[in-house]
Amino acid sequence: MSKKPIYVTEPYLPPLEEFIPYLEQIWDSRRLTNNGPFHKQLEETLCDFLGVEHLALFANGTIALVTALQTLRITGEVITTPYSFVATAHSLVWNNIKPVFVDIDPITCNLDPDKIEAAITPQTTAILPVHCYGNPCDVERIQRIADTYGLKVIYDAAHAFGVRHHGESLFKHGDLSVLSFHATKVFNTFEGGAIVCPDAKTKQRIDYLKNFGFADEVTVMAAGINGKMNEVQAAFGLLQLKHIDHAIEQRRAIDTRYRQTLLGISGITCLAEPVHTVRNYAYFPILVGEEYPMSRDALYQRLRDHGIFARRYFYPLISSMPMYRGLSSANAANLPQANAIAERILCLPIYPDLAAEQVDAIAVMVSGAGL
Ligand SMILES: *Cc1c(COP(=O)(O)O)cnc(C)c1O
Repeated sequence: MSKKPIYVTEPYLPPLEEFIPYLEQIWDSRRLTNNGPFHKQLEETLCDFLGVEHLALFANGTIALVTALQTLRITGEVITTPYSFVATAHSLVWNNIKPVFVDIDPITCNLDPDKIEAAITPQTTAILPVHCYGNPCDVERIQRIADTYGLKVIYDAAHAFGVRHHGESLFKHGDLSVLSFHATKVFNTFEGGAIVCPDAKTKQRIDYLKNFGFADEVTVMAAGINGKMNEVQAAFGLLQLKHIDHAIEQRRAIDTRYRQTLLGISGITCLAEPVHTVRNYAYFPILVGEEYPMSRDALYQRLRDHGIFARRYFYPLISSMPMYRGLSSANAANLPQANAIAERILCLPIYPDLAAEQVDAIAVMVSGAGL
């Protein structure tokens, strides 16, 4: 195997010469940001590509999450998952909202709908689930609970770019869906993000909030933030979209190859593929079980020693972090499945340019033969 380290992901970069004409257009127009032509075009093109009605671009996914909560005026307590990237819970703290952690389903690694109702209090205003690894949450049951108790649902869909469920965009579910276009995600604009919303009125409020609250030159309707995506990012997104089907197809081939080559390794389990779902193959998580000859952390370290930088997404749990572990819902006894999965999970490298031979070499390492 080559000496070059293999990271868990690498950004998908189209050929540089294809980007130059976009830059020339920006230089010519002198429009660098503030809802410029590429920004408008990317919003329209993404709506078409994803099959959604309205979408507002953002500078990054975290500001989009913070703004999504403000859009719906969420307060009090919000039910969420401990099994995610820290930004999910941080976005609540930035809005003075108390996160209430609920355990996950060990098969999907998503919020367990069976556990949600017991966590609802008079202060609960919303549910903030994550489509972990791009695998759909139980959207129907979550919506039924939200309807029964009058709660909003905001999906952290940072992993779920392009995912379709029962023949339509996964982003049609919930009140809002929040995307991340960070360099490590399936679709990237270096940094970036978006909120998908169902109607023009909500989109307008989001657009005000991401631009300091300006409704027009003299009217400021709220203490908005600067969450705007600039023209270079938007142009890069447009170029990237031209290649995205091919990139996801390459990811699919890697996913299939891993599943074949890892089959039968005692103690290694690939996560089940979701049904009725068009996937994006954003991650390749495996579970390292008791029967495996070494611990998850030992395997993680041995792979590192061989230049393979697998990642423990998600370990440690958000609920174990100093700013959250004091919450009663963060107690490990309340989150047995999340705690168990966090100890066993390992995400193997997957990205479009990862060669089949590299996938095979990684699988050989995991099988123990190469260690
Ligand atoms: C990446 C990610 C975010 C944050 O997105 P940024 O664009 O990096 O700010 C939020 N939630 C989840 C689950 C993520 O994976």
